[in-house]
Amino acid sequence: MVKEFSISSENRYQLIDITDKVEEMVRESGVKDGLVFIFAPHSTAAIVLTENESGLKQDWLAVLKKMVSGFDFLHNKIDDNADSHILSGLLGQGRTLMVENGRLIRGTWQQIFLVEVDGPRERRIIVKIINEQ
Ligand code: ZN
Repeated sequence: MVKEFSISSENRYQLIDITDKVEEMVRESGVKDGLVFIFAPHSTAAIVLTENESGLKQDWLAVLKKMVSGFDFLHNKIDDNADSHILSGLLGQGRTLMVENGRLIRGTWQQIFLVEVDGPRERRIIVKIINEQ
């Protein structure tokens, strides 16, 4: 079962919590035990699990910006977003979670985030739900 949804970012770098949307899809799927693969089909965005706390979200953005600062990127001569491609690749464009008894298995402080690193844009999120039965 493959589902998808879209989300619009407002800033160049931004963390957007998509946990509720993914959990809703798992509920609607009726899958009790299986796997969920959450994928951003973009080379300038990523999916991560982290805590939804406003200070931490700003910390993430500070670290991401610092990781790609001070470079003379060649890609920027044709498309001004080398930083975005590199962060997207490093963070990863997908994550897999387990479903048990109809619920996503995740820690209390593990929310699912789309990490926008080349916004503002409209982003697609593809969710593949695999039934173990
Ligand atoms: Zn590019």
